[in-house]
Amino acid sequence: MELGDLYTEIVTQYSCSQRHRHPLEHPDVTMRGVNPSCGDDISLALEVEGGIIKKAAISGSGCAISEASAAIMADMIEGKSTEEADRLAELFLGMIRKTVTDENELEELEDALALQNISNMPARVKCAVLAWHTLQGALKKLETSPQGTVG
Ligand SMILES: [Zn+2]
Repeated sequence: MELGDLYTEIVTQYSCSQRHRHPLEHPDVTMRGVNPSCGDDISLALEVEGGIIKKAAISGSGCAISEASAAIMADMIEGKSTEEADRLAELFLGMIRKTVTDENELEELEDALALQNISNMPARVKCAVLAWHTLQGALKKLETSPQGTVG
């Protein structure tokens, strides 16, 4: 690990966070994300109301990086619109792929910036992006399934 101390701390904190580790009673969409190269296997459940993500829950397990990334993602998207969440996911993926390098733009990612250095560790990139890919998959699924038929 070659993360700065502060970033290591943020990642450690989030990877131990239990805040989003509670099952949702009525999720509108669930999505599983697997990263076989590391063994990360997480599931994301979202409660969406009127286009706003009310609750995000994570289950499953993975390495510290994937769990921290998932916890940060869940924290960031709660209260945001699905469009906004999708945009943040693109921004995060852009940061890791180094296609977005403008610091002002990246500042919006807040704590997720702690994972920026992962882009220099190719073996861990898949761990870092897993949750965000899973989020995009969930949003796509939500788009293609008719709303209001659940519950
Ligand atoms: Zn991993």
